[in-house]
Amino acid sequence: MLGGLNAASMSGKQEYRRQDSDASGCSSIADSPIYTKLTGKLISHEDMEFERNKRIYFNAALHRCTPKAFAIVESVNDIKSALKYCQDHNCPVCIVSGGHSDYGLCDNALVLNLSNMKKIEIDVEHQVAYVQPGVLLGELDNVTVKHNLATPLGTSSSVGFGGQALDLGMGFLTPMFGFLINNVIEYELVRADGEVIKVNRHSYPDLFWGMKGYGANFGVTINYKVKLHRIPPSMIGGRCYFAWQDAKAVVKHLRQFRNVIQQSCFAASIILHIGKTSFQVFYRLLYVGNLNDGSAIVNMLLQSCPAAPLFKDIQPLSYDVFQASCDYMYESGKHVYQSPGHFLEDLTDHYIDTIVDSMSVLNVTENYCSVVYFNVLGGAVKELSAHESPFLFNNANWWVGAVGSSAEPDGYEKVFSVISGMFSKLEMYAMVPDPQSVAANERRLKALKTKYDPGNLFSNNPCNIIPDIAP
Ligand SMILES: Cc1cc2nc3c(=O)[nH]c(=O)nc-3n(C[C@H](O)[C@H](O)[C@H](O)COP(=O)(O)OP(=O)(O)OC[C@H]3O[C@@H](n4cnc5c(N)ncnc54)[C@H](O)[C@@H]3O)c2cc1C
Repeated sequence: MLGGLNAASMSGKQEYRRQDSDASGCSSIADSPIYTKLTGKLISHEDMEFERNKRIYFNAALHRCTPKAFAIVESVNDIKSALKYCQDHNCPVCIVSGGHSDYGLCDNALVLNLSNMKKIEIDVEHQVAYVQPGVLLGELDNVTVKHNLATPLGTSSSVGFGGQALDLGMGFLTPMFGFLINNVIEYELVRADGEVIKVNRHSYPDLFWGMKGYGANFGVTINYKVKLHRIPPSMIGGRCYFAWQDAKAVVKHLRQFRNVIQQSCFAASIILHIGKTSFQVFYRLLYVGNLNDGSAIVNMLLQSCPAAPLFKDIQPLSYDVFQASCDYMYESGKHVYQSPGHFLEDLTDHYIDTIVDSMSVLNVTENYCSVVYFNVLGGAVKELSAHESPFLFNNANWWVGAVGSSAEPDGYEKVFSVISGMFSKLEMYAMVPDPQSVAANERRLKALKTKYDPGNLFSNNPCNIIPDIAP
């Protein structure tokens, strides 16, 4: 989960913070033929609904920007027209699928809003799904689960599939089936020049590699073909809550179970949640298998825990119900910062103590919320081919990351400083990929960017690659 799992964290590079583009060269969009060409809707700066439309996005960090217009696109032709407009008028382009990242909007840009492209088709026999970018994670889970199928998705129902499948996609099925990007079989995208291409391991294999983590750099993805896995109709899963003063002991307890977890179809995470009225620490557990085996392993874990549970809600449930059970932690319309977090080989006492201590000094208020995740990795992640994607942390046993959100107008800076400050104190524990692999990735990605988006039209994304300047 939690993202911040953006590509910056995948390659060991620094996070890229977007610079808003300037307005030069952008004439009034209302006078342009794009107005009549779209089958979707164009909401320009001059329209009454412009301000209201800005506020529909999940992440309020986006509300502060003033784009030139929103193109609510519905077809490939809409996307082609919008990209042509941007190139003809030297106008920056931004792309939004689910609107969770803070890179979706920028000043003076034309925003391609893909949220109406919501088709899902399931081929049960071949265990694949065809998914459009506007589909949200919860919407896909609800459909696949009806066929006892699923693909690894993050743990917040309202996140966009469109952005996550280009980024990473870590969730409770990851220890069994890898990240979402490892399960994408094909990306269909509209390139800057309007050409539509299907990218898979046979056609554009090098681009296929780069799409898995850096996919927002090369075009607008309009369709994803995704591998689905068999899951039982009912599994043992849920949450077990403890008192905040036991937080350190509970995380240390999970550490003892890492090997057991990595060798079975069990996924476990500990969540620290500073919510509206309380501090919470809880286990989130899912056993993707037989109900009796699941009950046995959950009992073994909880009975050996040094802390006494306050409340437990662990029972047979369907995968989509489990997935949606923590949605209450994420409210739309707040200023959200998601941290790339750390991939770790070992979780030290000092690491755990520092995270819990940093969270303990926060004030519980109506306006502020933070969620920290301690996720056990390993399992299928260790078996992923190092050549499949630019991801360089296959040996990670843990991912620790956080999302902070605030309702206050200056909230973004506040959550950014609290969360990034906490992780920067612990930087020495983060896995550092070997410099040769980082350099090789960078060379390969730059070559792809130079070939497929030499003008850097798709620059407003969480991890922009700068192309070589043409001679
Ligand atoms: C509350 C919260 C919970 C999260 N939980 C998880 C989690 O459990 N697991 C996990 O792995 N990650 C998680 N994330 C991270 C999340 O997956 C990424 O931020 C993802 O990019 C969001 O996708 P989106 O479509 O909602 O965002 P958007 O803001 O719509 O898109 C993000 C960026 O991706 C690019 N983009 C989006 N769609 C397209 C497209 N179709 N074509 C080309 N470029 C595109 C754009 O550059 C855009 O700026 C979480 C984030 C938040 C805020």
